Amino acid sequence: MIDLHCHSYYSDGLLSPAELVARAQDAELTFLALTDHDTVDGLAELHAAAAGTALTIINGIEISVHWKKYDIHILGLGVDPSNQLLEKLIQQQKTLRIDRAQRIGEILKTVGIQDAYEKARALAGHERVGRPHFAAILVQEGKAPDIQGAFKRYLGRGKIAYVPSVWISLKKAVEGITVAGGQAVIAHPLKYKLTRTKLHELIKDFKMVGGCGLEVISGETTSADAQTLTLLCKKFDLLASSGSDYHGTGLSRVGLGRQMKLPEQCMPIWQMWNGV
Ligand code: MN
Ligand code: MN
Ligand code: MN
Repeated sequence: MIDLHCHSYYSDGLLSPAELVARAQDAELTFLALTDHDTVDGLAELHAAAAGTALTIINGIEISVHWKKYDIHILGLGVDPSNQLLEKLIQQQKTLRIDRAQRIGEILKTVGIQDAYEKARALAGHERVGRPHFAAILVQEGKAPDIQGAFKRYLGRGKIAYVPSVWISLKKAVEGITVAGGQAVIAHPLKYKLTRTKLHELIKDFKMVGGCGLEVISGETTSADAQTLTLLCKKFDLLASSGSDYHGTGLSRVGLGRQMKLPEQCMPIWQMWNGV
């Protein structure tokens, strides 16, 4: 099995890179990509933990991009984390993310949560705080019954603490990934609830700037979704990726490496990688 999408506590996951390696070994994975949101900070630790095991590590990242009025996630697989252009993009995203987090913190003060940004930062263990961290604080302070409830009432699009983020463009992200030697993949393409027309438009724009794959299987993909995405790969001549999007027990329903199998009609993105 292969898992090309997961998170450590360097973004919004719960586990350390070393704990992810242990889970990957339990699941008997051959390939594991760590794809933290807008950061490659966990990769060195992941490599160190996987040294001497049968596990092959793929350097990954999940970059949030702004496309039309949507937030889309682009996976970069096989990137060189020390590439200068990629580093610059990551720095830019970091500034945008901290800025957004501070604004969310300000708004949450108006609903009675003091120092929400500082609390979320303490919870995350780093300053690149995301909405799931704020959701956890809202739950902790009794403002929401659970994470989903916190998004529904406060953090989701159109709610009081929703701060639209203007991430870098699709073009910039895909180019950055490609220049850094990686392959760009649209993460969980059906999660954005785009119309069919819009989704086709996104895929065309993505291909135009050098994108090469769709994540056909994600943690919560249904067989019907997998079928739809398989057909899209065929139609647009794209490679297929597969990953659990594991964030940790309690946050993810599907464990590391436990996602559905890739449909046989797909061309796996890892087909040309060495050692498969
Ligand atoms: Mn996440
Ligand atoms: Mn995502
Ligand atoms: Mn993810």
